[in-house]
Amino acid sequence: MTEDKTPLIQIEGVSKSFGPLHVLDRVDLDVYAGEVVCIIGPSGSGKSTLLRCVNHLEQPDEGWVKVDGEMIGVEVRNDRLVELPPAELTRQRTEVGMVFQSFNLFGHMTVLENIIESPVQVLRESKAKALEHARQLLEWVRLEGKENTYPRQLSGGQQQRAAIARALAMRPKVMLFDEPTSALDPETVGEVLSVMRRLASEGLTMMVVTHEIDFARDVADRVAFMDGGDIIEQGTPAEVLDNPREERTRQFLSRVV
Ligand code: ADP
Ligand code: MG
Repeated sequence: MTEDKTPLIQIEGVSKSFGPLHVLDRVDLDVYAGEVVCIIGPSGSGKSTLLRCVNHLEQPDEGWVKVDGEMIGVEVRNDRLVELPPAELTRQRTEVGMVFQSFNLFGHMTVLENIIESPVQVLRESKAKALEHARQLLEWVRLEGKENTYPRQLSGGQQQRAAIARALAMRPKVMLFDEPTSALDPETVGEVLSVMRRLASEGLTMMVVTHEIDFARDVADRVAFMDGGDIIEQGTPAEVLDNPREERTRQFLSRVV
């Protein structure tokens, strides 16, 4: 049973406001090693903010996130949480890969250069080793032959697969996906979801914000429904997607499915 194991990602009492706007209200969520947790919910419910708190792109006002037992972005000093030095945060972020909705490749670099950039600059891998790994990853996301192509010459789906390869090049412990297919042409959505399915089946721990309900039903171990800055209910895909307990979940699903 997973109950007595420590979660790989622990989100504990995380609150976040932007000025007067309360975006997250004491959110708790645990993700165990090898689990895929899909987060669904209406626009503005705080899904992206929650994901961004996991790698400290947003600083929680209250609460904390741990990845593999280590608090992200902060440390306890004199009973208070204080921000870590930037170099420490950079090191922690190498373990948390993230793929966003908008393509976040460096436009002035080729696909191969994009993928080896962080392993060489941040992890201090040798260029030869980084290149070898990058070529394996490109094959894995089925972009072999695109090594020397610039992002603008790729379709949206190809760019997202390159972005996934770039994140994987850091050998992250967990991967965060924020609506990775929302900006794609319909015909390229499937190729990105298929790469994500394969990552899930290889046992990578993933948090995925998505509107792809069929993907969540097939791939998620757990689905969490967010509304108004809180997780309203969570459970297996069968529980949350096919038999929701909460009226708000039912209403949301009737709109998106
Ligand atoms: P979701 O991803 O579920 O659509 P978000 O987490 O992006 O929701 O946003 C939740 C709310 O917080 C929205 O009302 C959004 O406009 C607001 N918000 C998000 N980021 C910021 C920010 N940096 N400054 C001000 N408001 C923000
Ligand atoms: Mg969002």
